[in-house]
Amino acid sequence: MPDTVLEVIPLRDAQDRVLSAVATLPEREIACLHAAGLVLARDVVATENNPPFANTAVDGFAVHASDVANVPAELRVIGTIAAGDGTSWNVGVGEALRIMTGAPMPNGADAVVMVEDCEQSVADRVMINKSVGVGTSVRPVADDVRAGDTVFQAGTVMNAAGAGVLSSMNARHVWVYPRAKVALLSTGDELVTDGSPLQRGQIRESNLTMLELLIADSSCEVTNLGVIADDEALLERTLREAALTHDAIVTSGGVSMGDFDVVKAVLSRIADMQWMQMAIKPAKPFAFGLLNGTETQDRLLRRVPIFGLPGNPVSSMISYELLARPALRKMMGHTTNLLRPMIHAIADAPLRRKPDGKTHFMRVFGHFDTDGRLHVRDTGPQGSHQLAATAGANGLAIVPDGSGVDAGGTVDVMLLN
Ligand code: AMP
Ligand code: MG
Repeated sequence: MPDTVLEVIPLRDAQDRVLSAVATLPEREIACLHAAGLVLARDVVATENNPPFANTAVDGFAVHASDVANVPAELRVIGTIAAGDGTSWNVGVGEALRIMTGAPMPNGADAVVMVEDCEQSVADRVMINKSVGVGTSVRPVADDVRAGDTVFQAGTVMNAAGAGVLSSMNARHVWVYPRAKVALLSTGDELVTDGSPLQRGQIRESNLTMLELLIADSSCEVTNLGVIADDEALLERTLREAALTHDAIVTSGGVSMGDFDVVKAVLSRIADMQWMQMAIKPAKPFAFGLLNGTETQDRLLRRVPIFGLPGNPVSSMISYELLARPALRKMMGHTTNLLRPMIHAIADAPLRRKPDGKTHFMRVFGHFDTDGRLHVRDTGPQGSHQLAATAGANGLAIVPDGSGVDAGGTVDVMLLN
């Protein structure tokens, strides 16, 4: 099967095949602190109010608004209250309480005049120079979160502020779709990782470093299994073991048409694979499959997705972005924004290519100019082995088949960060 000529399919079809084959991971309850970047699996209902009591939004004087309708107005200062002070004060008519941001509103008072609008020359008198309406600078109870309200709906992607909200209402744990546990390995007998001098024919390994960071950046947990020699028995053992303890496997190299493409040979035997050739450049070959994992709680066999990325570093990165990342996001409960955002940009310099029936993903650097538009230029050589030029890119210009885009022309750009 691997030796047959494969039909070349559009990228979209490859993405559909992969996305339709992966399932969302079972939901899990985790500590709120670890939920940032993850998708909520259940609604979060507040059990406490925040703020728990009415308090002042400014440093100043708590007053009866009616006492300061005509200013300047002199009031008697009955004391001072700081944030955290639980003393229950009563502010009568003609009186004021010196109050600090976050302190509970005293009984009687219905507004706070900020300190900048007051003059206190002696301890027990204050001159108020500005009128305020009822409720001014008062933060009512439950102004942010009300007990019983659904604060976050299932499907929400938690961010740092969201985790803070959970803390503010004393939620300690939330139900989320967990981080996918991803095993990563690279193949190729030419690859050197230990810093030793290169022998003729050897190169330094680069994809493991890059992919480990990309996978972690997708909110997954990565196990880097290193370079596995081009040895079928070893590779088979490694893949089978990885499938027992991981939610997905990402491999680099060995999925093309070469004689030593061992990933291809092994996976054809042990997994349910789809070998694809996509009408894109770089990253034409891509392998996707399902490998048997352990049994689930309900005694179903877990099928572990395996993403076989090509070894050429730029191809590896781009196929990760276009196919593996969206699938991992789906597994982690994302239903929207599976793909990176795209924007119409202006090519500040020509984006040249040759007609070859493929869509090219050219590495570009873009900036938003004073016209509010994204302006892009290519970052240099576009070979699939030329990772250095790719490292300078913050976007992929999607250049359709043809001779490219002229300077000043528009092009769709997928934003990488
Ligand atoms: P392959 O996909 O295994 O046929 O490899 C394609 C090209 O990418 C060859 O030139 C490999 O030497 C190179 N390559 C494969 N894996 C890596 C890697 N992990 N780091 C750097 N280059 C690689
Ligand atoms: Mg290889």
